[in-house]
Amino acid sequence: MSRDAFDSETFRRAAQKAVDRLIGYLDDIERRPVLSALAPGGLRAALPSAAPEDPEPIETAIDEVFDRIAPGLTHWNHPGFFAYFASSASAPGILGEMMAAAFNANAMLWRTAPAATELEIVTLDWLRQAIGLPEPRFGVIQDTASTSTLVALAAARGTVTEWDTRRFGLAGGPRLRLYTSQEAHSSVEKAAIVLGIGQEGVVRIPVDDEFRMRPDALAEAIDKDLSGGSRPFAVVASVGTTSTTSIDPVPAIAAIAERHHLWLHVDAAYAGSAAIEPSLRFLMNGVDRADSLVVNPHKWMFVPVDLSVLYTRRPEAVRSALSLVPDYLQTPEQAGAPNLMDYGVALGRRFRALKLWLVLKAFGRRGIADRIREHVRLASLFRSWVEADPRFEVCAPQPLSVVCFRLRQGTDEQNQALIDAVNATGEVYLSHTRLHNRLVLRLAIGSLRTEERHVRRAWELLSA
Ligand code: PLP
Repeated sequence: MSRDAFDSETFRRAAQKAVDRLIGYLDDIERRPVLSALAPGGLRAALPSAAPEDPEPIETAIDEVFDRIAPGLTHWNHPGFFAYFASSASAPGILGEMMAAAFNANAMLWRTAPAATELEIVTLDWLRQAIGLPEPRFGVIQDTASTSTLVALAAARGTVTEWDTRRFGLAGGPRLRLYTSQEAHSSVEKAAIVLGIGQEGVVRIPVDDEFRMRPDALAEAIDKDLSGGSRPFAVVASVGTTSTTSIDPVPAIAAIAERHHLWLHVDAAYAGSAAIEPSLRFLMNGVDRADSLVVNPHKWMFVPVDLSVLYTRRPEAVRSALSLVPDYLQTPEQAGAPNLMDYGVALGRRFRALKLWLVLKAFGRRGIADRIREHVRLASLFRSWVEADPRFEVCAPQPLSVVCFRLRQGTDEQNQALIDAVNATGEVYLSHTRLHNRLVLRLAIGSLRTEERHVRRAWELLSA
């Protein structure tokens, strides 16, 4: 009996079968309904309620994955996936995941995975240059943008010098305040909940008519809190908000943060990848003045979930907020051998750098930039169709690859009914947002497999 579930020969045959089926799945993806039609509990009811007592043939299990489980998925790799922000898995990204699983390296300490740690450093430096971030920048991979923002705000909280939050928590300390726009992602508020700052500690700054944070309102809110005895400590600006992809005026916000010695974190989870395209480099304006920045290659850089990058000018602040090294994790390594567990919440760390490295090598900077530029062109084309149809209105500027629009005379219910109707075709999947308290449709382009014909089809369905 082999020690593993099966021997190397069976593994090879099974791997070949899994890869064949996987490539077949991706080649055929367009023929599947993008949004799963599975009713809640549908898959659970169809599967045995306990694991098998004895081994089952792996080849049958692989067939089950593709024939019974995959049909119940919503297909994020589908070219008609226009909801939220697309995340599409490219071939090099998939290979990176496969190999990372095989190595099963845990890059918590330098010595537990030296090459994984060093590849992470090299790859994040490549990415930093590609998106036009000036040196010096320390980068570290986290699972998601929510975690990157949590880590950044933990570091920011640690910079409050009059109270040792790391030691005493927040009880008895000053009332901490952080500032972000009304359009910022919910992950900012969630980080505040986790860090004990609380939702009341998050001041939502009003936006202008293009959904960008108003620096005058930010300055006013900080002054008001200071005179009321609260302790401002951080500002989170967004470059590419979730609803409309609006871009906060980072230089003006940075000036205010600098004046008050506040930590500036920039959430560029979606839009940061786009700075790889030279004509979109303006996205990084002022970002060099931020203390930290999050970019998610798993959103718009064709890297499969999950891979978020946190860059910071102040790695020591992150380390002193989060590093905790019990005796059994002490190692003799010196400078140049960072233990990346010190820059996050989790101890164990997957070998995520491998898939980003492969994506950067296989596409090249230019290959990624070409695709992103094409997505922005397709979004502009779609917007022009919406603008030309008097039944519709565009509801926000479109600086990148998302178009927000609605039926001009329609109620929220009628706009929702339109989304439901087009989603029911199985050809496209759109989601909604709310702007000026009205339901708005969002068409977000970002999938590797989306071509002009798919965007055209979405408009045919919407405007029929
Ligand atoms: N920030 C922005 C602007 C986002 O749009 C999102 C998700 O769409 C997030 C943060 C959270 O991303 P994640 O799912 O990686 O936590």
